[in-house]
Amino acid sequence: MNTLTHWINGELTAPVNEARLGDIHNPATGEVIGKVELASKSVVEKAIDAAAAAFPAWRDTSLARRTQVLFSFRELLNARKGELAEILTREHGKVLSDALGEVSRGQEVVELACGIPHLLKGAYTENASTKIDVHSIRQPLGPVAIISPFNFPAMVPMWFFPLAIATGNTVVIKPSEKDPSALNWMAKLWEEAGLPAGVFNVVHGDKEAVDTLLESPKIQSVSFVGSTPIAKYVYERGTAHGKRVQALGGAKNHMLVLPDADLDLAADAAVNAGYGAAGERCMAISAIVAVESIADELVAKIAERTKTLKVGDGTRGCDMGPLITAQHRDKVSGYIDAGEAAGATVVLDGRTSTPDADGEGFFLNPTLFDHVTPDMSIYTDEIFGPVLSVVRVPSYDEGLELINSNQYGNGTAIFTNDGGAARRFENEVQVGMVGINVPIPVPMAYYSFGGWKNSLFGDSHAHGMEGVNFFTRGKVVTTKWLDPSHGGINLGFPQND
Ligand code: NAD
Repeated sequence: MNTLTHWINGELTAPVNEARLGDIHNPATGEVIGKVELASKSVVEKAIDAAAAAFPAWRDTSLARRTQVLFSFRELLNARKGELAEILTREHGKVLSDALGEVSRGQEVVELACGIPHLLKGAYTENASTKIDVHSIRQPLGPVAIISPFNFPAMVPMWFFPLAIATGNTVVIKPSEKDPSALNWMAKLWEEAGLPAGVFNVVHGDKEAVDTLLESPKIQSVSFVGSTPIAKYVYERGTAHGKRVQALGGAKNHMLVLPDADLDLAADAAVNAGYGAAGERCMAISAIVAVESIADELVAKIAERTKTLKVGDGTRGCDMGPLITAQHRDKVSGYIDAGEAAGATVVLDGRTSTPDADGEGFFLNPTLFDHVTPDMSIYTDEIFGPVLSVVRVPSYDEGLELINSNQYGNGTAIFTNDGGAARRFENEVQVGMVGINVPIPVPMAYYSFGGWKNSLFGDSHAHGMEGVNFFTRGKVVTTKWLDPSHGGINLGFPQND
């Protein structure tokens, strides 16, 4: 059985005797298909040292050369993304078409980073004071850390590393130990694209690896994506060690459906956004907030569509794959038990599943709850599975109040044909990413991705100009060239004239 090791300084590390190992499963069959080495502190330190050693030369590599490498990486990724998608389906379980979609959304950030010379241009002011000019520049930070979750093993790291590398930093990435192979594949691609050894390093591991990155004095910034408790921990520990940290956390995304909405469009959207990737998306819709007058009709339409979904192995043309692990499947199933016990109406029960798959995969069918109330755990908690909860409200105002009272603020959507109501929602809702008749409003790469409240710790969202700024420090230079008429002693604070 294959044991995945780390990618440090341009090569795979030799297996370490007695290293702690994690299992890599194919969630569609339940089989263990590989092992992954979980890095000790000393292995992570080697990766950090490699990134630190590669930094001075990469920082001084011209933008023209950096851009050539980025374009090559983009071309290779585009040509071979099918291979990467297969890896994602094998280790994560999401269906192949969804895996390809994930790669394409990550590729957008690579394409943004190809334009880095333009994004890094500073400002210049001639004659700010008499014969004094001022200009601004942005410089890389140094070695930076990226720590990613299991649910987007390719896209989430790509939210960060293209811009980190394009701006002249070197990186150490710690992907989720549950589906780690995508990052080793991408490391090889960077090598082929001509990226110097040591600029892109991958360590696999768990808390020990993360803590080493958070505490290392050489690591300048941390970009983290994962659950809210760990995001908060990473933010607090990283900033306590003097680092710049952006830590994106969990979510509970609401979709508000007003009485004038196109209910067929809303039902399609609810099914796609609720059950796609088996609900294991940070932008999945998990709560449908239906205005009472249309709730019966909407629930019926969602149920009718959900019944047609094919659940099974992601390589077999199914609509929905398995959950990531047996433990997670059982946890989601436990939430369904709790929702039923709390009195929610079980419209569709996903606990029994007959998937199109071989073996003992980690499957659930889609579950639909109606008459969910805000005190139930199926509403309060992020379930991260194929479970949709319908909460009924009398009108827009109560729907908005419900969304704004939630601890999370990642994504949300409103379905309506009333432009005035949509405009009001956009203005009043306390959520970072808003869709109007769009259920999964993931911003394009040239905007920034990130939520509010407990969905993001720190003040910097991913990619777009916020990403460029996160991975660089600003400097302002004031210049005066020798001019005999402008010398002289003056101890006063510089003033303009
Ligand atoms: P997770 O928090 O369990 O793990 C994320 C990363 O942290 C992994 O690399 C993991 O190895 C590491 N980690 C886990 N426990 C740790 C600990 N005690 N100390 C230090 N590091 C630790 O998250 P997950 O289950 O992999 O991913 C699912 C979560 O990620 C969901 O909550 C989802 O909403 C969230 N997510 C958020 C976004 C977003 O943009 N806000 C995007 C994707 C996923």
